[in-house]
Amino acid sequence: MALLAGVLPDFDIYFKPLILHHTYTHSLIILLPICAVLVIRLKGLGLAFSAGILSHLVADSIVGTIPPLYPLSDFQVGISLGLPSPADTALEVGALGLVLFLAYLNGDYKLVSEAHRESVYLTIPLVSIVTLTLLFAGDNNVSLAEFAFSRKALTLITLGHAALIGILSLAILQGVRAIMIDKQRPGQTSDNQSREHQPLGPSLPSNISP
Ligand SMILES: [Zn+2]
Repeated sequence: MALLAGVLPDFDIYFKPLILHHTYTHSLIILLPICAVLVIRLKGLGLAFSAGILSHLVADSIVGTIPPLYPLSDFQVGISLGLPSPADTALEVGALGLVLFLAYLNGDYKLVSEAHRESVYLTIPLVSIVTLTLLFAGDNNVSLAEFAFSRKALTLITLGHAALIGILSLAILQGVRAIMIDKQRPGQTSDNQSREHQPLGPSLPSNISP
């Protein structure tokens, strides 16, 4: 949930002609009440969502600025250390390292190392990260392949993103695997399936005897 919410403020890129990037979805007076309601209503899940959303705003206000009072005011807050910049590299690589460490501590790494159905939900952040990157690059005429390795700091970020995408893809494969294993496992429907797909043989009667 935190991983998805961390990308969510940039979903305004999907609605580019309708919503300007870095406006409504980066405004504290819009997001803070939503986060408060979600934490009160959904407890842990709401907290994960809020942590993701607010971490995005913190990071954006370190490398650039955010409009905390939008649409009431265009007033900007942030220390604008730059994007790309060493600060941005430290933030992105540090955050990835922190998430990997937390996933190790709380057992979330099992979504990648074992077959779990829940892992298929990681399709949402994976597709978001990839499509938002492509759309943003397209909108701003950035040649990604050239840009990605143009400086040392960017190469590190590119490798971090490649690692993240690799991890998420692996987790999604584990999710698909779990669904396939569940389908093959003998259960309520597996008798029907074996009758449909296999010719009746001596190994089956124990299950279908009256
Ligand atoms: Zn943003």
